[in-house]
Amino acid sequence: MQERGQVVEIEITLQPHGGIRGRCSQCRRPAPGYDRRPERRWQFVPLWGIATWFRYAPRRVQCPEHGVVVEYLPWSDGKRPLTGALMGFLARWARRLSWRETAQVFQTSWESVYRSVEWFVEWGLAERQLVGVESLGVDEIHWGHGLRAANFLTVIYQIDGHCRRLLWVGQRRTEATLRRGMKALGPEVVQGLRFVCSDMWKPYLRVLATEAGQALHVLDRFHIALHLNQAVDQVRRAESSRLRAASQAAAQQLKHTRWTLLRRGSRVRGRARQKLQALLASKLQTARAWELKETFAHFWTYRSLTWAGAFLDYWTWRAMRSRLEPMQKVARMLRSHEELILNWFRAKGEISTGAVEGLNNKIRVVTRRSYGFRTYKAMEIALYHTLGRLPEPESAHRFC
Ligand SMILES: [Zn+2]
Repeated sequence: MQERGQVVEIEITLQPHGGIRGRCSQCRRPAPGYDRRPERRWQFVPLWGIATWFRYAPRRVQCPEHGVVVEYLPWSDGKRPLTGALMGFLARWARRLSWRETAQVFQTSWESVYRSVEWFVEWGLAERQLVGVESLGVDEIHWGHGLRAANFLTVIYQIDGHCRRLLWVGQRRTEATLRRGMKALGPEVVQGLRFVCSDMWKPYLRVLATEAGQALHVLDRFHIALHLNQAVDQVRRAESSRLRAASQAAAQQLKHTRWTLLRRGSRVRGRARQKLQALLASKLQTARAWELKETFAHFWTYRSLTWAGAFLDYWTWRAMRSRLEPMQKVARMLRSHEELILNWFRAKGEISTGAVEGLNNKIRVVTRRSYGFRTYKAMEIALYHTLGRLPEPESAHRFC
C-alpha cells in the first residue's frame, strides 16, 4: 500500500520465478533469458475500491526463431497500460452503465473505458465465427443532429430465429456503404444467404439484387407500416391547418388525435375511441386516410399468394382514387415493388416480423442515450459491444 500525495493505491510488485524461463511473446515457447527492461506499471482491477497496480520489470528472451524479444506477459497486451483483467472488467460494466458512469465508479478515465471496450470488441470481432447465417436484415439508422449524409448509418443484422445480432455497421447509406458491409461479411456468408430483408431504399435494393441475387428479398413489413403511418400523419397535418384557417370549431375534431391515428384501430380504447368514432363518421380526409391504413393491415393475414396479390391490387386502386396525395404516393410505391412485397408470402413465415424493428429499437437506446460518444468510432464500438453478441476473451477474474 502506498500513498502518493493524497491518493492511496495498492501496488503489487511481481518477480519472475527463478526456475522458470520466460517465453517468447511471439510464439510463447520458453527461451533463454537475455536482459531486463525497466520497470513498468499496469493497472489492475481495483481491490476494495482502491486503485491497484502491478509493477514488474519484463525480461527479454532470446528466441531461436524470433530473436531478442520481450517475454510473454499473461496479464498484458502490448503497450497497453491496463491489464487484460481490468479491460475485461471495465468492458463488461460498460454494458450495464454508461461509459462515463463506469469511469466514475471505478476511478478511471473515460478514455480508459473507451480503450477497454475497443480492445474487447476487436478481440470479439477477430474471433467471431460467421456460420449458419441465413437471413439478413439491412436498414438505415439516423443518429446525432441534422440530416447530413454522415448522420445516417447502414446496419446489417442477422435475423435468424436462433440468432439475432448486429453483424456490421457503417457510416452513410449509399450503395458503396452496403457493398463495403457485404464485403466485410465475406463471400461465403453472402452466398449462403436464403433471405434478405430491407426497406424500399433504392441503393440497398440495387446492391442486394446484385450481391445476393440467390436470396429471396423481402420488404420489411414494419417499414411498410411506417410509410402508411407517415402518410396518414401528413394528411392530418395538412387538413388540420386548413381547418384552423377556416374555423376553430372545425379544427377541434382533429386536435390531439395524432397518436390515436397511429395506433392500430383495435387497440384504441376509452375516450380516444369515442373521438376516433366521431372522426370516422365525419367526412374528413383524415378519416378516409386512416381507414385506408387500417384496411391494409388485412393484407398480412393472407395465406395465399394469389389472394394477397389481388388484395394489393384492390387496395392500391382504392388509394389511387382517394384523392389523398400522401396515400397515392404510398400506393405507387407499393405497386412498383409488388414482387418484393409479395415475397413476404413466399418466405412463408421464415422471416420474423419484429426482428429488424426490435434491433433498431435497441440501437436507438445506444445512439440516443446521453453517453456522449465523442466520435463516430466510439459509437460504432459501443454498438458492436451491446448488440454484436461477440465472443469474449477468457478471464480468470469475472466480476460481473
Ligand atoms: Zn519465438
